[in-house]
Amino acid sequence: MSRVYNFSAGPAALPEEVLQQARDEMLDWEDSGMSVMEMSHRGKEFTSIAEAAEADLRDLMAIPDNYKVLFLQGGASSQFAAIPMNLLRGKKGADYVNTGSWSKKAIAEAKRYCDVNVAAETSMCTPSQGDLNLNADAAYVHYTPNETIQGVEFPYVPETGDVPLIADMSSTILSRPVDVTKFGMIYAGAQKNIGPAGLTVAIVREDLIGDAMTDTPTMFNYSTMADAGSMYNTPPTYGWYLAGLVFKWLKGKGGLQAVAEVNERKAAKLYEYIDSSTLYSNPVAADSRSWMNVPFVLANSDLDASFLNEAKDNGLVTLKGHRSVGGMRASIYNAMSEQGVQALIDFMVDFEKRNG
Ligand SMILES: *Cc1c(COP(=O)(O)O)cnc(C)c1O
Repeated sequence: MSRVYNFSAGPAALPEEVLQQARDEMLDWEDSGMSVMEMSHRGKEFTSIAEAAEADLRDLMAIPDNYKVLFLQGGASSQFAAIPMNLLRGKKGADYVNTGSWSKKAIAEAKRYCDVNVAAETSMCTPSQGDLNLNADAAYVHYTPNETIQGVEFPYVPETGDVPLIADMSSTILSRPVDVTKFGMIYAGAQKNIGPAGLTVAIVREDLIGDAMTDTPTMFNYSTMADAGSMYNTPPTYGWYLAGLVFKWLKGKGGLQAVAEVNERKAAKLYEYIDSSTLYSNPVAADSRSWMNVPFVLANSDLDASFLNEAKDNGLVTLKGHRSVGGMRASIYNAMSEQGVQALIDFMVDFEKRNG
């Protein structure tokens, strides 16, 4: 068996130790005689798995007691609708910051339910606090701390006063510490930095729950899910279990501060090389460059195909940029090791020598 360095934006690489543990426990979880996939979600075995995962996530992110942690399905994309349904709370409109492709999708969906005030719109950079045209009457402010496709990441958390701040953290959650108390809600599809696809994690301040629009589907209602411990129906049990293994792995790494130091180093090294080269470039403003998704283009796009083919021959895969922007993208989430990033840089240096 030989594993590649997988730079996929999502579903993304998982820590090898986590996959090994899942393999070892595949047929018989802790002498239960069954796989986690075969367990009743209401049995004592799975209950212990579910509770440990939540406790470890709370611990890692220092989530206060007045926040609910929900383990949902439907991806971050379902939350684009669930958020206005649950959080408008009788108000007419909400503020949305538009920094790229995922912001746009969240805005398009929100427009079905409310008046959207676009508080700022930027391309290849993030707005400063002063650039945010916030509406004091807004039900909430929604933003995308890390735009996975453009590789644009906020270097700060916006201040929104008494208006709850909602963050689509799909591609940046757990990459560095965040002060959860600054947010009304944080949500993320699992398949980037948490675990396998099929699980969506939402962290919601309790006082915001309970005032959903009347027509909100039961499954989309945060009240239903909070009251039922995310088990109103059958939850994505195996994804929840794997997420729990990832949370334990992160704790073993020393927690989010330690993980952040590694992530910052990985990203800095890659950007530094890209900036020093004449073949590669990254279009994002220096203060808004993502630690997790590093897009870059080659000076001559005729070389794209051979770059990708040769990278693959060197065990470096899924480097093609999103179809909407082209070029390349290296996603370097928590599970991508420093050796993996170094291997990518070594290959890029060699490719540039031969083609620059
Ligand atoms: C991947 C991604 C999404 C979409 O997630 P799904 O779980 O596929 O719905 C939304 N927002 C951001 C920032 C993402 O990176």
